[in-house]
Amino acid sequence: MDTSPILPATEENIRKAASIIREGGIVAFPTETVYGLGADALNERAVARIFEAKERPLFDPLIVHIASREQLKILTDHISDIHRKLMDAFWPGPLTIVFRKSPAVPYITTGGLDTVAVRMPSHPVALRLIEASGRPIAAPSANRFGYPSPTRAEHVLKQLGNRVDLILDAGKTPHGIESTIIYVEGETIYLLRAGATPPEDIERVTGLKVVRKARRMSPGQLPYHYSPATPVILIESLREVEEILRKFERIALITFRREEIPEKWKDKVIYDYLSEEGDLREAASNLFDRMHRYDEMSLQAIVFQKVPDRGLGIAINERLLKASMRYASDRR
Ligand code: AMP
Ligand code: MG
Repeated sequence: MDTSPILPATEENIRKAASIIREGGIVAFPTETVYGLGADALNERAVARIFEAKERPLFDPLIVHIASREQLKILTDHISDIHRKLMDAFWPGPLTIVFRKSPAVPYITTGGLDTVAVRMPSHPVALRLIEASGRPIAAPSANRFGYPSPTRAEHVLKQLGNRVDLILDAGKTPHGIESTIIYVEGETIYLLRAGATPPEDIERVTGLKVVRKARRMSPGQLPYHYSPATPVILIESLREVEEILRKFERIALITFRREEIPEKWKDKVIYDYLSEEGDLREAASNLFDRMHRYDEMSLQAIVFQKVPDRGLGIAINERLLKASMRYASDRR
């Protein structure tokens, strides 16, 4: 875009933003906490654009914003009485609740996790945008990764400029502090991130204790980062596969784009790719799906080929490297 993508948040411009969201675009909009960078949470490619624009690591899951309880039913099938109490008391508002995700929510939105973080914002522009688009909107703060969160449309413009399709301007955001994030397991409420909703209020409303959880959790418990249990091996080129096949009988091999695989590998190798044509957005949106799918097959290893080290490829390679570390350190 040559012209500035900032528009005042009038009804007409909100509708314009909503149709951009429906078409798979990304829009910055005000919430009561900070400005968010939003995309249709159920559209994998659109969500990939958020990670690309922000240069955000792919394992950092997004919060999905909704405007009605009806929309929550698309995202999860697991709503308890405690959840309902919390939603009655704090929604719309700065409380994010982590639910078990439904199959409709793509893994790129949840950083590969089987849970999804959801909140109903109270800012009228945010609510109207979600309503008008008819989609749940995945939205992290509209800043580049590692930079301060934007409380004004001008901050968004400075950091993300023409990487976004439109910025809805409604002046300064009221809170400027992030939402509180919780997870309910049985009768226990875990505080995953302190924020604008105080834990004391949550305890008063539910009559339950809020337990502080360290960011890093033991395996099996609410992982922040998904990694396959099957060893992940990272390769640069297909030439390295022969060597790997001397040690393993059954592996998955996942290349960046579709490749021709030698006939003689076929009884040992389940072959797949991240993107037919070698498109980085598509590759990013398929990454966690491939990890989950081949992790469930009881294979000896999942071999991933590195992708080109540019744009979203940097985030994909980072994620692959992280997943492969466990195997590399087990061998030491
Ligand atoms: P933000 O960067 O403010 O959009 O908030 C996103 C943060 O929410 C992530 O960095 C996580 O800390 C947290 N989060 C999002 N989804 C989940 C989830 N499924 N489980 C646990 N924490 C989550
Ligand atoms: Mg953030």
